[in-house]
Amino acid sequence: MKNIMFIAPPAAGKGTQAEIIVKKYHLPHISTGDILREISKEDSEVGNYVRETLKSGGLVKDEITYQLIEDRLAKDDCKNGYIIDGFPRNLEQAKEYDKILAKLGYDIGTVILLDIDREILEKRITGRRLCEECNTIYNINDPASSPKQESVCDKCGGKLYQRDDDNLESFNNRYNMYIEKTEPIIDYYEKKGVLHKVNGASSIDEVAEEVDRVISND
Ligand code: AMP
Repeated sequence: MKNIMFIAPPAAGKGTQAEIIVKKYHLPHISTGDILREISKEDSEVGNYVRETLKSGGLVKDEITYQLIEDRLAKDDCKNGYIIDGFPRNLEQAKEYDKILAKLGYDIGTVILLDIDREILEKRITGRRLCEECNTIYNINDPASSPKQESVCDKCGGKLYQRDDDNLESFNNRYNMYIEKTEPIIDYYEKKGVLHKVNGASSIDEVAEEVDRVISND
């Protein structure tokens, strides 16, 4: 199974799509955002730094991010393929990722871009809720992905919460950063011939079908 990378602006549904692929293909899901959110719960210097950075919508410094990615990808469960989302986020990280891949003897695999307009993302951002226990993502503004009971996860009964950075101010920071820093990596992967574009504005199921088609044909 090839490795799969998702590139998408904030709240485009990359976490949701990654979870669908995880279930179907039983691959580990490596999300730098999820790993950093776990670290942000720690009462330590690093925990405090990460918590404040996440809240502002800024990027966590490279020395922390690179180490956690390399350590995670080196684990046995990644040897037969994995899904990565949230990394790389800029050209420097993309080049560092190439080095990490070379070190571990992995291929880049399939890169999937979820293409979607800013207006749709703004509507999604305020409704997003996550499960504290299993990280399942819901959207209370969208009947198709609302939890059955408010604030309770359908899957595990865990408590749902709203991310600190899911507000319009932080969204604007993250979106502008995406345009400025992350968009250049689209070109980088297009030139490598590994990039596939999927329309992220369709329903969750339609996007999942298209993503699955890309993975199956690649
Ligand atoms: P995400 O869940 O991918 O939206 O990421 C949430 C937040 O985690 C981002 O706004 C950043 O603060 C931080 N983060 C995630 N991935 C990275 C990365 N590759 N480099 C630096 N910071 C990151």
